[in-house]
Amino acid sequence: MWGWWRFGKWTVLIMFLHIIAILIFTKGFLLTRTELPHSSHCSDLSQSPCHSSPSSSSCWTKPAVDRLIIIVLDALRFDFVAPSSFFEEKQPWMDKLKVLQRMASENPSSAKIFKAIADPPTTSLQRLKGLTTGALPTFIDVGNSFGAPAIVEDNFINQLIQNGKRVVMMGDDTWTQLFPNHFNKSYPYPSFNVKDLNTVDNGCIEHLLPSLYQQDWDVLIAHFLGVDHAGHIHGVDSTPMIEKLEQYNAVLEKVIKELQNQSGPGKLHENSLLLVMGDHGQTLNGDHGGGSPEEVETSIFAMSFKDLPSLPSEFDSSSCELDFAVTVSSLLGVPFPFGSIGRVNPELYALAVCTWNLDDDKTWNNQDQTKLEEWLQNYANVLCINSWQVKRYIDVYSASSVIGFSSEDLFRISDLYSKADENWSYTKNLSSYKNGSSNTSLPVLKRQIVAYSNFLSYVAELARSKWTEFNLKMMGTGIGIMLLSLYCHTLAIKNLNKSYGVSLLSSRDSGISFGLMLTFFMSLLLTVPLFYSSLRSVKEGKAANFLLATTGIMTLRYSFMKNKMLIEVS
Ligand SMILES: [Zn+2]
Repeated sequence: MWGWWRFGKWTVLIMFLHIIAILIFTKGFLLTRTELPHSSHCSDLSQSPCHSSPSSSSCWTKPAVDRLIIIVLDALRFDFVAPSSFFEEKQPWMDKLKVLQRMASENPSSAKIFKAIADPPTTSLQRLKGLTTGALPTFIDVGNSFGAPAIVEDNFINQLIQNGKRVVMMGDDTWTQLFPNHFNKSYPYPSFNVKDLNTVDNGCIEHLLPSLYQQDWDVLIAHFLGVDHAGHIHGVDSTPMIEKLEQYNAVLEKVIKELQNQSGPGKLHENSLLLVMGDHGQTLNGDHGGGSPEEVETSIFAMSFKDLPSLPSEFDSSSCELDFAVTVSSLLGVPFPFGSIGRVNPELYALAVCTWNLDDDKTWNNQDQTKLEEWLQNYANVLCINSWQVKRYIDVYSASSVIGFSSEDLFRISDLYSKADENWSYTKNLSSYKNGSSNTSLPVLKRQIVAYSNFLSYVAELARSKWTEFNLKMMGTGIGIMLLSLYCHTLAIKNLNKSYGVSLLSSRDSGISFGLMLTFFMSLLLTVPLFYSSLRSVKEGKAANFLLATTGIMTLRYSFMKNKMLIEVS
C-alpha cells in the first residue's frame, strides 16, 4: 500500500511536469491567433468618429473605381517585374514583362510598379487567405483543421458578395476551395500537377479576354500558375521560365490594349483598375514557403484607366500584402474585413483616386494645393475608418480570445489610438471650414495621417511578433521542464531499484520503458531543428500537427509502459 502511494506520487509529479512542459512549449511554438466569426457591415460605421461617405449609395468609403481586374501571377519574383537597372546584375529572366515596365515609365501618373512583401508561410493557400482577409496566417486554423479549407473569417470577397458586387474567377482552383459559393461565374482548373505548366494558364487565357467585354462582373480574378510550376520543375534560370514570362507579357499586352480601348467616357472600362500581382516570390530553385527575401518579395503592378493629370512619381514604392484587402475594399467602397490589420496603402489609393506623393516637398501651385488638400482630407478620413476598424478588431479579439495581448500592449494600442482620435476632432472641424487657409490645414492633415499611420503600423508589428514569431524563451523553458521530468523519472527508477532491490533496467518491460524514455528525449531534441527546417516547406500547419500528434502518442505510450512497470513491481 505504502509503495503504491509513494510511486503514485512520483507518477503524479512526472505527469504534472510533462503537462506543464508541453503547455509551455506549445504556447511558444504554436501560432496562436484564433479566427473570429464576425464580419463588418455598412451600418457599423455610425459607431465610428469618422465622416460617413457623402453619397447615400456608398457604404464606408466613396468608391474610387467601378471595376477591378486582378491578375495573379503565381510565384512572381520582384525581379520579374522591376526593371533590371534596379538590380546590381542583369539576369536572363529580367525585363521579360516589358509591357508593365513600359506602362509604368510612360504613364507614371496612372501606372506604377510596387514592391510587395508577403508574410510567411509563402504558400499560395496561406497567401490567398492573407490577401483576402488582411490578417496574419495561423498554422493551426482551429476553425478548419479538418475538411474543406473554406475561409471562415471575414474577407474582401465576402464583403464584395454582401454588398452586391459580382465576382468572376478563372484559373487556379484554390480560389474555389477557399470560396466555394462566392463567385457569379468561375472557371477553375486543377493546380495539383506541378509538371503541367499550361492547363491553368491556357484556361485563364481562354476566358480572360472575352470576359473584358462582358458587363456581368464588377471584380475579375485570373490566377495564372505556370511560372510557379516552371520554377518548381526547371528553376528560375531556365528556358521554360523565360517562355512563360514572354507568354504572360503577350497576354498582358492584349489585356492592357483592350482595357485602354474601352476606357473612354461612357465605355465599359471608363473607371477600371488593373492589378497584376504575385502572391509570393520564389528562390532560384523555384522553392517557396519560407521567409527568405526572394520568397517574400513580390510585386504589384497597378494601372488606372482614368484620365489622370501627369504628376511625377517615384519608382521605389513598397507595400505589404497585409494591406491589400483593406486597400481594395476602400477603392471599391465596401466595408473592410473585420479581422484585417492592414493599412490602406496611400500610393495605391492615390493612384486610383489621383496621384500624389506625400513626402514630396516640392512647391505646389495653387491649383495643385487645393487638389492635394482635397486628397489628404479624403485619405485622412479613410485612415480614420481604417484605424477605428482595426481598434474594434483588437478590442473584440482581446475580449474573446484566451491568448490575447498583454495589458501593456493593449494600453499602448489604446494610447496611440486615443492620441490620433484626439487630433481627429480638430482635423475634422478644420476640414468643415472650407475657407480655412491651406497653409494651416495641410500640416494638420499630414499630422493626422502620420498619427493614424503610427497606430496602424504599431498594431501590425505587434500582431506579427505575437502571432507569427516563435517565442524561443517559452520553447526553451518547455524543453527544460521536460528534461527535469525525465530526470525525475530516472530518480524514480533508481529509487525503485534501491527500495525493492528489483533490477528494473534488466527487466524486459522496463528496458523498453527506458528505451522509450530515451527515444522521447531524443525526439524532443530533434524536433526543434526539424521544425525550423520544416518551416521552409510547411503546408498549412502539418508540421505543427505532426509534432503535437507524435508528442502525444509518445507520452501516452511512455506513461502506459511506466504504469505497467509500476504494477509489476508492486
Ligand atoms: Zn502561389
